[in-house]
Amino acid sequence: MKYQSTRGSKDVKNSPQAIIKGIAEDKGLYVPVEMPKLAEDGQLVQAIEALKGKTYQQIAEIIIGKFFDDYTEDELKACINGAYDSKFEAEEIVPVVEAGGAHFLELYHGKTAAFKDMALSILPYLMTTALKKEHVTDKICILTATSGDTGKAALEGFAGVEGTEIVVFFPNHAVSQVQERQMTSQEGANTHVFAINGNFDDAQTGVKKLFNDPAFGALLAERGVRLSSANSINVGRLIPQVAYYVYGYVKLVERGVIKAGEPANVVVPTGNFGNILSSYLAKEMGIPFAKFICASNENKVLTDFINTGVYDIRRDFFVTNSPSMDILISSNLERLLYLLSGRDGAAVQQWMAQLEKEKRYEVSSAVKEGLGCFYGGFCTQEETEEAIGDMYRNHDYLLDTHTAVAYKVYADYVKETGDETPALIASTASPYKFAESVGRAVGLADAADGFEAVRQLEKATGVKVQKGLKDLDKKPVLHKDVCEIDGLADAVLSGL
Ligand SMILES: *Cc1c(COP(=O)(O)O)cnc(C)c1O
Repeated sequence: MKYQSTRGSKDVKNSPQAIIKGIAEDKGLYVPVEMPKLAEDGQLVQAIEALKGKTYQQIAEIIIGKFFDDYTEDELKACINGAYDSKFEAEEIVPVVEAGGAHFLELYHGKTAAFKDMALSILPYLMTTALKKEHVTDKICILTATSGDTGKAALEGFAGVEGTEIVVFFPNHAVSQVQERQMTSQEGANTHVFAINGNFDDAQTGVKKLFNDPAFGALLAERGVRLSSANSINVGRLIPQVAYYVYGYVKLVERGVIKAGEPANVVVPTGNFGNILSSYLAKEMGIPFAKFICASNENKVLTDFINTGVYDIRRDFFVTNSPSMDILISSNLERLLYLLSGRDGAAVQQWMAQLEKEKRYEVSSAVKEGLGCFYGGFCTQEETEEAIGDMYRNHDYLLDTHTAVAYKVYADYVKETGDETPALIASTASPYKFAESVGRAVGLADAADGFEAVRQLEKATGVKVQKGLKDLDKKPVLHKDVCEIDGLADAVLSGL
């Protein structure tokens, strides 16, 4: 399987090369040149039936193997077994839990308690295997912009991994206290963490600039270092995420919620559009997902885009109680535009240039039509807390703020359309990562700080706290550096 850029350059890469590079030379993102299929025409039902009873690891191997066929079976098995092991506190890796008329795909049982662990547990294995396969001897510096959860998951994944340095930029004062301490207490000589005086978009734009800065590249080359990415712009992040949507669909079939081949809907709390795009790739492979319900918080640029075909970032930016979705420039949308436009790299190039210059673009009628299988909705911070409170009181199930956004938008969707197709909701984080908001939502008094809120919430609900989130306040802060949005290059160099 080869990978091509969304911006039309002729240059194609195999999967190890695409994973090492992270982003294409023409600044585009890599997509497979054609979508691998789960089954031959007419064989889908049998193929799905054949997946029943398989473990998460087995399904991951089948799905990831179709996209990353440059890895040998043994290589891929080693990556998967290294990634999805007892680090996950749920034996089935991704439990699917029914509550309140929906099926929650609990993606947060990894080490850092967010769905980012699903891909970032395996990315370091895919990366180091790729380096060996491609005979790369340079050190790889993984540059990461985070809205809160990618940073810690990338740090955990790459800490101590030989031949790599991991550098994370998070928006200062705009992540939860738990998220911040998770990152700033990270151990490991190859880990570097910076708070940036800006928001996630500033961090992501700054990081992308460094990727495309030849002078900076040359400076690193002198030191025997090259850059890669742990953000969902890297296909090594995106593809492992396809596996859990296939797994979730198969669970619905196993439980008799649907028959093999019948449609299901997907609901995803969305920021950078990586997670929901992965579900779309599952559909492209053959899984009969019908609607993709894209849930946003008050930063509802995607809701407006899906409804109008106009992507417009000339708007206020809000810091909300679902901070991992406080994003205006959703990188992975570029991949969807590429696919929906019939792989028109020139058009994508033009829209991205307009976004940079004019802060808006309007897609073609073909893309607008393609967006028909997406539904966009958003939810305010108050509604988010209401959704958490209702779910807890009525169904004894605790949602984090991001998943609550998805649940509320899903409820709106059902009310508006009457569509009762069974739905999988991506449950993207442990409620304890956002314990202050969640505690308030279930009626607890305000805690002294985010760490106390974790203890209070555990006492009140009895829901188990993941190991990594316990007693975080007792973990020393090891990273205290703050940088400005134009200071990313120096920050990176200071750590090498
Ligand atoms: C990253 C994140 C999201 C958004 O996912 P994208 O792939 O960026 O759209 C949603 N919820 C949580 C908890 C996250 O960490």
